[in-house]
Parts: sequence; structure tokens; C-alpha cells
Amino acid sequence: MAQRQTPSGGKLLLNEPLARYTSWRVGGKADRLYIPAGLQDLQNFLHSLDDNEAVHFIGLGSNLLVRDGGVRGTVVLMHNVLTNLRMDGGLVYAEAGVTCAKLAKFAARQHRHGVEFMAGIPGTMGGALAMNAGCHGAETWDMVAQVMTIDRQGALHTRNKAEFVTGYRHVEMAEISSEAGNKKLSCGAGNKKLDEWFIAAWLALPDGAASESEQKIKSLLARRLATQPLNWPNAGSVFRNPSGDYAARLIEACGLKGFVIGGAQVSEKHANFIVNLGTATAADIERLIAHVRETVKREQGVELQQEVRVIGEVVHE
Ligand SMILES: Cc1cc2nc3c(=O)[nH]c(=O)nc-3n(C[C@H](O)[C@H](O)[C@H](O)COP(=O)(O)OP(=O)(O)OC[C@H]3O[C@@H](n4cnc5c(N)ncnc54)[C@H](O)[C@@H]3O)c2cc1C
Repeated sequence: MAQRQTPSGGKLLLNEPLARYTSWRVGGKADRLYIPAGLQDLQNFLHSLDDNEAVHFIGLGSNLLVRDGGVRGTVVLMHNVLTNLRMDGGLVYAEAGVTCAKLAKFAARQHRHGVEFMAGIPGTMGGALAMNAGCHGAETWDMVAQVMTIDRQGALHTRNKAEFVTGYRHVEMAEISSEAGNKKLSCGAGNKKLDEWFIAAWLALPDGAASESEQKIKSLLARRLATQPLNWPNAGSVFRNPSGDYAARLIEACGLKGFVIGGAQVSEKHANFIVNLGTATAADIERLIAHVRETVKREQGVELQQEVRVIGEVVHE
């Protein structure tokens, strides 16, 4: 792997293995991985890129399957990069590289409640905004007042919540007017073309007692430990829950708990998790995802929708 320091301090890694940046611990190399030195550096870097260069932002890679053939283009790593977290007026200001766990604890200390659910989500603020991460009936965008985004040219935009359409693990920019007419943009929308990425969010959180939030965080974390296979590399829930049901229930009803392909296994503990037993390739995981989807469709008549995002190239044998 070659490494270059840009004049403004950012790090450019060539042919960098991405497995170490994802929670599944699988995947090939990125042609280029960029670790910005800060916001201005990120702006300059994006501005300098060729218009045709494919760009992927990643946070903690906890909802991401990188294929074994790696990623053509540039991957921008946001975890540990923009990490400002503070009160701004009455709002919590959190930059994209802040971890969800840190945000939850900070909000509790500030006597703000509503983001306790984030304590157990092992991702970044940027990833949570892109995914509309949530659990226990709460979602990231419930709390968002406004966000800052960055475009391909490195220009920053402050956008209101109303400029986005959000739903269950889904976020995209609403129709907006541009000089060229009405245009639909996507923002952090996984495998679609990305036109803007998240830099920060301002969250409106109601007042609450710190001790109550801290207690809630403790009990939510204990519940995760009891129900999720946290001792194996995984990417959380692989499939979204279909309306009125649970993907895990459907998968378990097909007898798929413990089913193995290569080094990938449907978790014995939580059927909607796929764990890497240590030797899994991305292809093993993708084959197992396809097998689960087909089996559930055949036996339960339900078409499961994937929650994890997939990037990169397949290796042709
Ligand atoms: C053990 C475990 C438990 C989990 N529990 C939950 C849960 O309860 N609820 C839940 O919703 N999820 C859960 N997840 C999944 C995951 O943690 C969340 O989806 C999280 O929000 C992803 O954040 P990340 O920083 O890791 O994003 P990544 O995995 O790095 O990226 C995910 C997507 O977001 C995009 N993205 C990342 N950063 C940005 C940015 N700055 N701007 C634009 N796009 C960006 C990426 O391009 C990609 O499409 C869990 C995962 C694990 C491993």
C-alpha cells in the first residue's frame, strides 16, 4: 500500500484494503482511500477530483458489504475526521465523524433526551443520517432540524429537514428547483449516484433528566448484548423488517438459523444477522444473503428487502 500526504495534511492511501474499515471485516481494496485532515481539506480534495471519479463516503462501515474485487474510484473515510460535538443555541451540533455512542452520551450529559437509542448503533452520525438509522421506535431523522452537506465540487450547503424525504432506513433529497429545472438529487443513498454527502447535523432534542437517559442507555445496551451476536464480525440487521412482521422471525421459521455458506453463517443468536466466522469472503456473505432471500420468498411468500449497502466489484472466478 502506498501512502501520500496532501499539502493540507489529508492522507491518500493507494490500493488500501477495505476489510479493516468495515465491521464484517471482508472486502477488497479501494483504488484510493482518502482521510481528510478537516473540512477545508475535504472541500479542496473534492474540488480537485476529476468529474468522472466515483466517490464513496464511509463512516464506520457497520452497514456495508465491500465486495472482494474492491472499489474503483475514491473512498472518503469520515470516521474520526469531523468530530465536533457541541451545543449550538438550543440544538446539539454533531459532525459526520462523531460516533452514535458518543452522541447519545453527550446528549444525556446535556440533559437532552431522544437519542438514547443511538448508544448501541456502532456507526457515525454521517452513516446514521444516510441510513436514517433507528431502533426501538425512534429514527435519526425524527430529531434533525437541519444538516450541512457537501457537494462534488466541495461546496457546503445548509439544508432543512423539509428538503429530504425520509422513511424506514431510507433518505433522499426531495425534488428541488434548480436553474436547469426540477431535479431529483440523492444524498448518501447507498448504491445510487451520490451528489451530496453529510457533513453535520443540528438536532432538536427535548429536555430530560441525565440520570433517566443514562439508565435508558444502560438497559438498551444490556438488551443488545443479550440478543445480538456481538462477539462475531457482523453488520447488524441484513434485511429490513417487512411491514407488521420481523425479518428475523421469517428467517428462523425457514430453519435457517446456523445455516453456513463458506465462512458466513446466519447467526444462531439473531436470525437477521449474518456473522463472519473468521474466514468469510464478501462473496460468501452475498451468496448467503441471496439464499436467505430466496428461501424466505419460497417458503413464506415474503420478499425481504436488504438493509445493508453493497459496494465494489465481484471477483470473477
Ligand atoms: C452490531 C450492530 C448493530 C446495529 N444496530 C443497528 C440498529 O439498531 N439500527 C440501525 O439502524 N442500524 C444498526 N446497525 C447498522 C449500522 O450501524 C447503521 O446503519 C449505521 O448508521 C451505519 O453507520 P456507519 O457510519 O457505519 O455507516 P457506513 O456503514 O460506513 O455506511 C452506510 C451507508 O451510509 C453512507 N454514508 C456514510 N457516511 C456518510 C456521509 N457522511 N454522508 C453520506 N453518506 C454516508 C455510506 O455511503 C453507506 O451507503 C447495526 C450494525 C451493527 C454491526
